[in-house]
Amino acid sequence: MSETATPSRTPAAIPAEDAILPFEVASLDLRGRTVRLGPALDRILGSHDYPLPVAKLLGEAIALALLLGSSLKFEGRFILQTQTDGPVRMLVVDFTSPGRVRACARFDRERVEAAIAERAASPGELLGQGHLAMTIDQGTDMNRYQGLVALTGGGLEDAAHEYFLRSEQIPTRVRLAVGEELNAAHAGPRHRWRAGGMLLQFLPKSAERMRGPDLDPGDAPEGTRPHVVAEDDAWVAGRALIATVEDIELIDPALSSERLLYRLFHEHGVRVFRSTSVEATCSCSRQNVENMLRSFSQDDRDHMVENGVISVTCEFCSSNYVFEPAEVAG
Ligand SMILES: [Zn+2]
Repeated sequence: MSETATPSRTPAAIPAEDAILPFEVASLDLRGRTVRLGPALDRILGSHDYPLPVAKLLGEAIALALLLGSSLKFEGRFILQTQTDGPVRMLVVDFTSPGRVRACARFDRERVEAAIAERAASPGELLGQGHLAMTIDQGTDMNRYQGLVALTGGGLEDAAHEYFLRSEQIPTRVRLAVGEELNAAHAGPRHRWRAGGMLLQFLPKSAERMRGPDLDPGDAPEGTRPHVVAEDDAWVAGRALIATVEDIELIDPALSSERLLYRLFHEHGVRVFRSTSVEATCSCSRQNVENMLRSFSQDDRDHMVENGVISVTCEFCSSNYVFEPAEVAG
């Protein structure tokens, strides 16, 4: 991510669609990013026929993956994946820097429909128990780093907070929102998807203010949690401000990220950096699918033949690739 400051300019009134905007509130040692998604989210969710709450949940996962993945300081991939026992078994968001993203969900349609009927289809209820894994992949000769956090009935915001508290020990708050904008007045699609998110972190420059996380509990009684994140006044203020952000402010097509940041932090001074565009593209191709099919045994391929052809559908973008068996024979 480029951290070079852009020259000062008039804040955009209209939100930059499909963009990640880093910002800084230097007087409070706060750094963060916002994400706004419109057409890119339509493109991803439009290629699937997910039930509404599943689509919304995947939208939240996409916003979260973009907020986290866009902080990578190198070219690489960031994969956010849930694996749980709820009606939505798996969410996968595959982000490639600087801003390419694809995503899909695996779920049990009957259980999702039952959850909707019982009004028990909140993100936490759809996910259930399990874990959220975050993998960073810098290429073939680099290590893959995996961060893992338990999902225990809460949503993705909760999981992100838990991850940063336990693993990174950086005071962090995340807000995520997904909604549909009805398009009654115009011809074209019935509705458009919108998602928004904000990540806020307390990253003090002075070592003294980093006190807390790694200190030995010392004289504290047995059983005291050793990791107590510093409750610096600046962080208390930052946390209180992001807590006031309403879902509608994150997705309102008439409110830009700059305006929202100004609304929140104008008393403390807020600076935005260069934004990054988000593009919903899939990396699948006919050639990749062909190579994958060739890597199977002849016996495996024989079992894939249906009505005389092998048909493969990309789980991320629903592109369908059809091969004559002879085309992919080893
Ligand atoms: Zn694809």
